[in-house]
Amino acid sequence: MNYADLANAGVSDLPMYVPGKPIADVASEYGLPVEHVAKLASNENPFGPSPLAMEAVRECIGSMHLYPDGGACALRRAIADLRGVGEDAVMVGNGSNELIELMGHAFLRPGLEVVMGAQAFIVYKLVTRLFGATAVEVPMRDFGHDLEAMRRAITDRTRMVFVASPNNPTGIANDGDALLAFAKSLPEHVIFCFDEAYAEYLEAAPDLREAILAGHKVVCLRTFSKIYGLGGLRVGYAYGDRDLIALLERVRQPFNVNLIGQAAALAALEDVEFLEKCRGANNQGREQLSAGLRDLGFETWGGQANFVLTRVSDGARYFEALQKRGLIVRPLGGYGMHDFLRITIGRQDENERLLAEMGLLLSGDAKRKVG
Ligand SMILES: *Cc1c(COP(=O)(O)O)cnc(C)c1O
Repeated sequence: MNYADLANAGVSDLPMYVPGKPIADVASEYGLPVEHVAKLASNENPFGPSPLAMEAVRECIGSMHLYPDGGACALRRAIADLRGVGEDAVMVGNGSNELIELMGHAFLRPGLEVVMGAQAFIVYKLVTRLFGATAVEVPMRDFGHDLEAMRRAITDRTRMVFVASPNNPTGIANDGDALLAFAKSLPEHVIFCFDEAYAEYLEAAPDLREAILAGHKVVCLRTFSKIYGLGGLRVGYAYGDRDLIALLERVRQPFNVNLIGQAAALAALEDVEFLEKCRGANNQGREQLSAGLRDLGFETWGGQANFVLTRVSDGARYFEALQKRGLIVRPLGGYGMHDFLRITIGRQDENERLLAEMGLLLSGDAKRKVG
């Protein structure tokens, strides 16, 4: 009898999330100096963490022998103020990915269905499968969530529906009014998980609080991993109805967000100047990258978050070739998008390098065709 025989049904067949390769690995694999490797693969903030967050981390290092505040009170209070909701309507998690999993713990089981876009963030499908529920994947329209089709896919067995806006990996956002109408149109037995991982990059983020206050079942998820630049510390949060948050609090570990993460996140929330700077630079970088790619003849999409979607002849080959030159991007075969790359918007110099290398690969393609 081996371990697979002893495991719960389906565990051996669970698909696994494939993260981008760390910079140090790529450097040693291809014999490149570490500082020559740019990671444009995981939508991290190319400007690093906020200086205030770094300062807060330095200050709390001497306390890391102590357990963190299990209730994350200071951080939750600051988030509640920012979002304009009560403290008991906010919960923090070990990245928003943990909160997605906790939704599964609380609400999913075999026989239930979860509605999601066919090219939506892959963690929704992984968590659905983890709890033995069925992922109902709805075709998307021009890489955006087709809310009407998703509404039609809802049955008596649906327990949750996921929408990310802007979506990862496609970058397309849905209209705020349409999202609010969608939230209000859902039947009582369906919880709308609205993933706002890139909301801070939008000019005006959708606001679903009205639906929450009116009693519609909505939970909004945000993260410190993207514009706040704290991906390595794993902090995210959920806000929604206090009855929902109370249930999620029951299924989490007592100290799910560590001491350093809490301190850094609290300081990062207060660093409005850094946030504005990153948003502005991202807008310029997006323009640089999408215009540059289009000038080379690549089709581009999305561009409402901190990454650009582009079509190439062969995503895996471009990915390999770029990685060899010290540029890590994301191939999208896992999403069934074999001729696409998702490229995180980097600093100006990183974007320039990316464009130069893409140009070289393209002329290689042309020669290949002729030859
Ligand atoms: C990056 C991302 C997250 C954030 O995950 P964390 O666990 O908070 O790092 C969540 N949802 C989407 C769609 C993302 O792209």
